[in-house]
Formats: sequence, C-alpha cells, structure tokens
Amino acid sequence: MSCSKYVSILPDLTIADTFKDRWKKIILPKKILKFVFEKFPLYEDGDAVYSGKRWQIFLYNVNKTKPEGDKQYAIAMVFLKDGTATFFGPFYPKFEPKISLHSEEIIINPVDNFLRKTKTMAEHIYIYSLNSPCLERGHKDPCMFQLLKKAIEWHELYNVSLCVAYTKCWGLSGPNYFKIRKANRSPSKNNSLTSPIEDEDKNTVTITTKELMSLEKYSPDLYSNISFTLNAKYLEDILHKKDVFNSLTSPFRLVDKNIARKQISLARKELVSLAKKSPQGVLEEHLDCGRKMLNSVSFLPAIQNEVFKALLNAWEEVVNYSLMTGESFTGQFNKYILYLFWKECKVDLGNNCPFKLQHIPPRKFS
Ligand SMILES: [Zn+2]
Repeated sequence: MSCSKYVSILPDLTIADTFKDRWKKIILPKKILKFVFEKFPLYEDGDAVYSGKRWQIFLYNVNKTKPEGDKQYAIAMVFLKDGTATFFGPFYPKFEPKISLHSEEIIINPVDNFLRKTKTMAEHIYIYSLNSPCLERGHKDPCMFQLLKKAIEWHELYNVSLCVAYTKCWGLSGPNYFKIRKANRSPSKNNSLTSPIEDEDKNTVTITTKELMSLEKYSPDLYSNISFTLNAKYLEDILHKKDVFNSLTSPFRLVDKNIARKQISLARKELVSLAKKSPQGVLEEHLDCGRKMLNSVSFLPAIQNEVFKALLNAWEEVVNYSLMTGESFTGQFNKYILYLFWKECKVDLGNNCPFKLQHIPPRKFS
C-alpha cells in the first residue's frame, strides 16, 4: 500500500552544506586575505539589482522602519500572487545571558509560519537586515547559511525565492576584523601571505602592517584610493617605545648629546603635531606630508641619516596602520567578502539560485 500522499518531500539541503564546507575553507585566515585581495579588482557593485514596484514598496518599508542610530534590525515582506503583501518586524537581536539570537534568525520563524499557510500563493520574499547576515559564528550556523537553507527549502516547497538585502557590510566579523600587531611585538619570520594568524577569538586576523602592505601588489588601486585620517596617538606610542635618541648607534661627540636629544625631541613633537592636524588623505599624500616635514629639519651631521630614517619609519608605520585600521579599508574588505560569498554561492547553487543577496547603499534611504 502506498502512503506517499502523507509524506512531505524534504528539500535537499546537502548543496548548502557542501557550499558551507567549501566556504569555511575559503575564509581560513591564512587564505582569505590573498583570496580577497587577488579578486578585489574583479568585483563590481550592483550585482543582482532589483527594481519594480514590489521592490520599491519593500524599500519604502525598510526606510520607514529605520530605527534611530545604528541599531541592528531586520524586517521581511512576503508578496503574494494576489497582489497583497505582508510585513514582518522590525526584529532586533536578543543578547541575554543564556540566549543569543540574531535578528535575521528571529525573522525566519514568522515568515516560515506564514508560508505554511499561504503555500504556493507566495511570489517573492524580501528580508532586510541593516548589517549583512553573519558569516562566522562559533558553534551555531551563521545567519547567512540559515537563510540560504531556508531559501532552498521555501523554493522547493512553495516555488518562491528569497532576496536578502543589507546596507552595512558586516563581512566576516564586523568593522574590527583586522587587529594590527603592534610594532614592538616580534615580527613574523615569514613575511608571506601565509603568516597572518588567527586571533584567540577566532573572529579576527592579527597581522603586521608590513604583512598587510605586502598585499598591495594584488590590488594597488585599493591602497592608493582609500582616504583616511592619521592616528596620532599610535604615532606617539611608537615614538615613545622606539626612543630614537637612546637607540642611536652612530657615534657622535659627547659634547653634542644635549643638542642631539633636543633636536630629536623637537622633530618628534612636530611629527606628532603634523599627524594630529592632518586632514583626510590617501596613502601617498600622507607619506609625502611626513617626508616633506622630515626633509625640512636638520640634525647633527653625524646622526642626520640615522634619525631621519628612524623618524620616517615611524611615520610610514603610522600611515599604514591608520589605513588598515580605518573604517574605509575594513569597510572595503567586508564589502568584498560579501561579493565573494555571493559569487561563490552561485558557483555551487547556480545562477538561478533561489537565494539572492542585494546591497542597498545608504543613499537609497534619503
Ligand atoms: Zn547572525
């Protein structure tokens, strides 16, 4: 006797799991930097651009529910074939001692329950999350994969696709992904791309500025076009730790000791003051600015070269550090991580994948 009519067909989620396993290997700290930086120039914004009346209605609702400040929230809209639409949210993340729920996973349940009732009446599902769904998350399935699996399930059960839109690129773990190893820490012996190490919390990459700069060759435009300000406090710290005067190896007359100390101290102050008042600028502008200032000061001939080199090194280090830790750089990196995810997702799930990822730039909110 057949009982097939009582058996619901379970969607095949193995493809999502296969992709998840592959993705985990792509984002290994030792590989991800090279992977992303090599591909930076290949990516373009605007993949999967949505338009049409439903999309406009959805955008209107995203805009209308925007909470004050930067609070993370998620909303959803399900459009039915009869022309009606149902709105869900806004949902906010819950961070309680025993339970931690992200807004993107909270929103899955009400949408899922609704779809069980409307079945194949659903035509489009849009979910919006201010920050892009997480891609790395301890023991739990990251929200991006929870949503991807649901998209496959909903597509198989109700023949409907899911578009997940976001404005801020959370990337792998938000704006503090790069932790720059301080200058006083022992540098890695290996200055190749394999040297970045995974931090204790598994969600950041610790790397030296030198190692990060070695990636420049993969994407020179990225390095030369990003505008940033200088972190004068960092310069003060490294100049304090390096102590240029006490590290001098060039021989000079003892009688000149006070003069040398004074000259170095003055130049250090000028350099810090220059960093403090420096406006936004790109890499080369900041480097030039320091070089010009250092070329304009003179030290005792016996120590001139050594002091110039030491102070220039400190300046170059602060410029690189400020670039790498600046919002723009990590922001770009996170943005490309999202493109990378989307591109790689389509490699496994195909171009007709029922899961779509769409960036909504902030200007669309105005
Ligand atoms: Zn999440």
